[in-house]
Amino acid sequence: MKNNVPDILLIYTGGTIGMVKDYESNALKPFDFDNIKLKIPELKLLDCRIETTAFSNPIDSSDMSPKYWVMIAEIIEKRYQDIDGFVVLTGTDTMSYTASALSFILENLSKPVIFTGSQLPIGDLRTDAKENLITAIQVAAARKNGVPIIQEVGLYFEYKLYRANRTTKVSSEQFEAFESANYPHLGESGVHLNFNEQWLHKADNGLSLKLEKNLNANVVILKLFPGINRNMVEHILNFKGLEGVILETFGAGNAPTDRWFSDILKKTIDREIPIINVTQCTSGGVLMGHYETSMQLKEAGVISGKNITTESAIAKLKLLLGRKIPFQDFKLKFETSLRGEMD
Ligand code: ASP
Repeated sequence: MKNNVPDILLIYTGGTIGMVKDYESNALKPFDFDNIKLKIPELKLLDCRIETTAFSNPIDSSDMSPKYWVMIAEIIEKRYQDIDGFVVLTGTDTMSYTASALSFILENLSKPVIFTGSQLPIGDLRTDAKENLITAIQVAAARKNGVPIIQEVGLYFEYKLYRANRTTKVSSEQFEAFESANYPHLGESGVHLNFNEQWLHKADNGLSLKLEKNLNANVVILKLFPGINRNMVEHILNFKGLEGVILETFGAGNAPTDRWFSDILKKTIDREIPIINVTQCTSGGVLMGHYETSMQLKEAGVISGKNITTESAIAKLKLLLGRKIPFQDFKLKFETSLRGEMD
């Protein structure tokens, strides 16, 4: 930061926000992100210096993968000393997965990393991209008494700032595309940009940023549905190389009481493969043992995901498996909040 003006790095990975409409063909096409200041001249009015960097081949967020999560983290690590706040632009479809994963990969983060994107491309007349981008930059640049107000990974969308690892994409149509059902939003943009200070993470500034890049690839999400049968479950849980499972259950963590089902789970856990119980509901969490229909999961040694989102759970599972912690310690580790992702 020179002359008290924060330095912000905009990282464009792809997605609708960086596209323009070709009004002749009506098709959406990516534009050269280095020209962002020409597309949004208002950026020059912001009280910060903005640098940009982009993936050489921007991707639709459906093509996002852990390889790209690590690439984003490495861009942040490389510029961490001289940049005061980061804004990461991705497509909205998998933004909650990416932003949650980054919250785990970036250990000891004490600067803002704000994800945003848009439902309509920047070149569209009714675009939501301008507001999302401009305010995300302001959030990343916001400081109080010389320190950044946000010291964690956030997601800013349609006037609200959320803790990234609490979010889920809930609409492919509404501008209000994200929700954080189990944690209050961190801030909102109205006439003023307000932060809800009591909900913000306070970083320990004595610790330096570390990247945890070792993410295990051999994990699955198994979503239950009425009628799921033994063949299907056996097939998924017996695939060679499986190392961890997110089990999406009904309501407060409930599942069929058939004997075959709990037997397969027990056998999987005996192979030292952790199974995490998360709810299919958007809000609330898992309370194993509350109903008879979750007792057998508890007895089989299934781990509680409490009120974590599936997007966060898969990233946390990959990260903890990557740490190669002893199997008997895994349950306690998973059930403990690492980055404010559950309570
Ligand atoms: N399909 C796009 C993506 O996720 C949608 C968006 O950008 O919002 O990359």
